[in-house]
Amino acid sequence: AAKEDGKGVARLFSRDLELRVQERTRLEKSLYAALQDRQGLFVFYQPIIDLYSGGVMAREALARWHHPQRGWISPAEFVPVAEQCGLIDRLGEFVLDRACRSAAQWDDGAHVAVNISAIQLGKGTLVPAVSAALAASGLPAERLEIEVTETALLGDEQGGIQDLLTLRQMGVRIALDDFGTGYSSLAHLRAFPFDKIKIDGSFVRDALTRPECAAVVRAIADLGQRLGVRTVAEGVETEEQLALVRREGCAEVQGYLHGRPMPAAEDAELVARLDEGLGAC
Ligand code: C2E
Ligand code: MG
Ligand code: MG
Ligand code: MG
Repeated sequence: AAKEDGKGVARLFSRDLELRVQERTRLEKSLYAALQDRQGLFVFYQPIIDLYSGGVMAREALARWHHPQRGWISPAEFVPVAEQCGLIDRLGEFVLDRACRSAAQWDDGAHVAVNISAIQLGKGTLVPAVSAALAASGLPAERLEIEVTETALLGDEQGGIQDLLTLRQMGVRIALDDFGTGYSSLAHLRAFPFDKIKIDGSFVRDALTRPECAAVVRAIADLGQRLGVRTVAEGVETEEQLALVRREGCAEVQGYLHGRPMPAAEDAELVARLDEGLGAC
């Protein structure tokens, strides 16, 4: 009986695996199709506030995907899929292009911050893609910020750092995203002259209840001041968190307190219809 149970489990397991592989293949195909006909893919924008002036300093461009059957899928799910199946460059170019075109229309002159995957670096494709997006939109390079996470700097065999340096020479600003969550974070500050450090939202979220998280926020803000690098506190949801990060010396804040990621004006109607459709399912 034990032997049979084992086989049953193995059969169940391989069936489960098979289903997951099928689901994954379907997801890759739909993402490919979405990028091909540019349907269902959107860029949302979330304000980043300058604490000194109180004004909108920048807006972060965040990819959104409305899947024909599954509805909205988080970038935390589809960005890794794009990275693994070779679609990240196309997705990245789509977001860059949209983001630069949107920002060129903003009358407040705010910067636009675009996330770049480590996989897009060091292949000789990123710098031309950025140049093309800037040229097509007319956005000055100084209004574009590129956000990279620490993994972008790990093992620089492909020369990703050179890409970032080239962009910086063009006038594009480079931000280190999710700071504090990676491995050997401080070393990365020496490896590249970042213009901005974004303190990961997890530290901000727990800063009021966990002294060690507040200490990390303070240490990073302090480090930023000493290095002359602006620090952004991510994930600020409450007035109390805002007061704390202000007190600790952060230069900018981003979070639901000041605004959720929102579609560009021209997508607002379509997005609202898609939201309703999802509610009806
Ligand atoms: P990220 O770059 O660190 O972006 C910030 C994330 O925090 C966003 O999640 C944003 O919606 C969320 N957020 C902002 N304020 C708050 C808040 O007050 N509370 C909470 N709980 N969350 C907040 P989102 O849009 O789901 O994106 C997740 C991650 O996916 C991003 O993290 C980024 O790493 C990646 N991503 C998004 N768009 C792109 C893209 O176009 N390209 C690449 N390569 N990655 C992207
Ligand atoms: Mg980011
Ligand atoms: Mg972040
Ligand atoms: Mg993140």
